[in-house]
Amino acid sequence: MAGFLDARPRVGYFYTGKSGTQLLTENLQKIYVKDYQSIPVVVNENISVYDAICTMFLEDVGTLFVVDQNTILVGVLSRKDLLRASIGKQELTSIPVNIIMTRMPNITMCERDDLLIDIAKKLIEKQIDALPIVRKTENGYEVIGRLTKTNITKAFVALGDE
Ligand code: ADP
Repeated sequence: MAGFLDARPRVGYFYTGKSGTQLLTENLQKIYVKDYQSIPVVVNENISVYDAICTMFLEDVGTLFVVDQNTILVGVLSRKDLLRASIGKQELTSIPVNIIMTRMPNITMCERDDLLIDIAKKLIEKQIDALPIVRKTENGYEVIGRLTKTNITKAFVALGDE
């Protein structure tokens, strides 16, 4: 199972000659976003910053995805987006999240069939904690999952345990 040995009919077991690093790289190329994805937490673009903060606590996530009335992705809200909005003197119950969110087309997204290693690189390159897993529709992108640094950490640990 580790990949060091292989078997062939009438030959038996033989050494594959692959190094540990080579096998690790091969295994990495077989892990997809869909193998480690989480359930997304989405909010409507018209909810208030106050309600978004409550949702973030109640759902215990660090990133919320914002959708329009047709459930199409329009924005992303991080912890610091909400903190930034809270340090002013505005009334949090009356500011809608669509004023403060990062909006389309500036959202980094991924799909279920993307390789996890490629998405891990994207998280580092863009300096973000999470991205939505989307499906393209006629109207835009529908959010079908969430991929976070925690998911990548789980994959990393699973690889080590193998
Ligand atoms: P935090 O701001 O809490 O450290 P992030 O590092 O994830 O969390 O977010 C940094 C900034 O990038 C925020 O302004 C956030 O709206 C934005 N952001 C987060 N995720 C994405 C994404 N997938 N695509 C585009 N922008 C994002």
